[in-house]
Amino acid sequence: MTKPIIGILGGGQLGMMLCDAAKEIDIETHVFCPDDDCPSKGRSTYFSIGEYSDEEKIIKFSNSVDFITYEFENIPIKTIDFIKDQNKIRPGKQSLLLTQDRLTEKRFLDKLNIPIAPYKDLKTIDDVISAQNEFINSIVKTRTLGYDGKGQFNLRQSDDPNKVFNRIVNKSIIEKRIPFEFEVSVIIGRDINNNTTIFPIGKNIHENHILKHTFNPTKLSKNQINQLVDYSEKIITELNHIGVLAVEFFITKDQILVNEIAPRVHNSGHWTIDACSVSQFKQHMLCVSGREIKQPLLNNSAHMINIIGKEINDWCGKNNTDRLKIHLYNKKEVKKGRKMGHVTELFDKGKIF
Ligand code: ATP
Ligand code: MG
Repeated sequence: MTKPIIGILGGGQLGMMLCDAAKEIDIETHVFCPDDDCPSKGRSTYFSIGEYSDEEKIIKFSNSVDFITYEFENIPIKTIDFIKDQNKIRPGKQSLLLTQDRLTEKRFLDKLNIPIAPYKDLKTIDDVISAQNEFINSIVKTRTLGYDGKGQFNLRQSDDPNKVFNRIVNKSIIEKRIPFEFEVSVIIGRDINNNTTIFPIGKNIHENHILKHTFNPTKLSKNQINQLVDYSEKIITELNHIGVLAVEFFITKDQILVNEIAPRVHNSGHWTIDACSVSQFKQHMLCVSGREIKQPLLNNSAHMINIIGKEINDWCGKNNTDRLKIHLYNKKEVKKGRKMGHVTELFDKGKIF
């Protein structure tokens, strides 16, 4: 039997872990990436180097695979439009269209009646002033191409609105700063028959706007879990999304708010490789290839720690143990704030964080 080939747009660490997962379930992979030196190189069955704007190369790539997925949400829509058979794209174009722009994403969530932080579309200086009056403390966020807190800054009531307005370079929104108790993310998958399953829900801790720790499972009430699952199912179904998706939430004393949607496998789900019966990466590839989604079962409680920037020096050459699993992304250049790898610390099942 010939193995299905799944094309992956993007060759970062998420692509790399998708390739590794595919090997375990008899799926071949073909990564398309502009960077010849990316983490996925050497991990996929096939590799094509090319720009996302190169129509000819994208068409050739799409003709060589059975399905096409993406490992980051900023793939240009134009690239997706080059692909003649749009049914090959899983998750579909809709998931990208609605999540590439924070404003579009917020309007989508509003339409679904899913609670989010109050926000304003930042167009004039009056928007800055009214946010200062209404929200007191807020965050200015770029509408597009933001990640790891890039393109964001704090806005306080005491800031000079002129200076703030002059600082804006990209189309942005202003979001009320939420005094949350903690943050969680729901990693949910959906197969072609509309079956959905979720992974155990974990708590996320950010440092310097970058995810640093994920703890699984975390203590939540039945009501909270029901609500988190309900919102996530609504989102994935409404997007008609095939594959894995992550929803980031703020949990306050009396509310659950969606922070944002990532239409792909997510950093807060990396622990599933070592602690679950099926990883988020395998789940994604199962769904994309048209196979039935699995119900993830927890084998161990887990704490995932991101290895950021120079911290990589502490982990190179270290070996895995029964309780510590090290994953390095083979990035050649160490940069401040760059995700270089992650470590999953395993605990006996039953531990709740
Ligand atoms: P990432 O790539 O990590 O998802 P991002 O650039 O998409 O980051 P956000 O998810 O919007 O940025 O914000 C990053 C983090 O900053 C959040 O996880 C949260 O800790 C904090 N943050 C963002 N928005 C708010 C808010 N409105 N109130 C309080 N904290 C916030
Ligand atoms: Mg985020």
